[in-house]
Amino acid sequence: PSILHASHIEKYFGNKGNVTKAIDDLSFDVEKGDFVGIMGPSGSGKTTLLNCISTIDTVTTGNITINGQDITKLKKKHLEKFRRDELGFIFQDFNLLDTLTAFENIALALTIQGEKPSNIASKVQTTAEKLEISSVLNKFPYEMSGGQKQRVASARAIVTNPSLVLADEPTGALDSKSSRLLLESFEKLNQDLKTTILMVTHDAFTASYANRILFIKDGQIFNELVKGTDTRKE
Ligand code: ADP
Ligand code: ADP
Repeated sequence: PSILHASHIEKYFGNKGNVTKAIDDLSFDVEKGDFVGIMGPSGSGKTTLLNCISTIDTVTTGNITINGQDITKLKKKHLEKFRRDELGFIFQDFNLLDTLTAFENIALALTIQGEKPSNIASKVQTTAEKLEISSVLNKFPYEMSGGQKQRVASARAIVTNPSLVLADEPTGALDSKSSRLLLESFEKLNQDLKTTILMVTHDAFTASYANRILFIKDGQIFNELVKGTDTRKE
């Protein structure tokens, strides 16, 4: 089943005489348990698309359904709860809270969701083990490397068990070694926990970790690569 279904979406910026079409009749699906990459150059519409999927911006026309809910029809007052319950976010710049430890940053996501206090420590620890950050749980962001911070941010995104994780240039602030470690963690989360991931990037190395890569240009998907479907025979 589809976790995300985008149907003929368009997004215009500006007004009469000065209109930019940032997304142009774009349709695609993300299946439950998939790891999808959207790759395209700067200005191709990646951020706009992610903003529309994450409900921070609205499409001009078309529909986006996430876990059975058409988000273009959701009332404003329900959006925050929807984001909190259904989505996990991973940002280029980590967006960790500087005054909280790694443990507290991850725990906060659960607290906000209303998780029972007695369940929180074990959920944080289990998730931290998956991301190999158990040893930094008592550290503050300024005491961690970029790679560690992004794995903490990833733990925060998945600890609430969202139906869809959205990652925006997750390796954009990391060196190549940290990028590889992070992307290997994404692969593991996708394989072991069946976490559904949608990741946008301009970087081919980063995109190559996805199972399916959609190529976007001028707001349109112009090609698609599905890994493991090479039909050549030896
Ligand atoms: P990417 O994330 O791939 O770099 P964007 O989604 O940021 O692409 O931009 C897609 C297009 O939409 C670009 O032409 C950009 O200039 C335009 N755009 C994005 N946001 C706005 C905005 N708030 N107002 C006007 N134009 C915008
Ligand atoms: P850029 O990608 O150009 O650096 P921003 O730093 O403004 O743009 O935002 C990065 C991404 O973070 C956005 O594409 C958006 O999907 C997401 N984002 C920003 N603010 C929020 C928020 N309050 N809630 C959820 N997602 C957000």
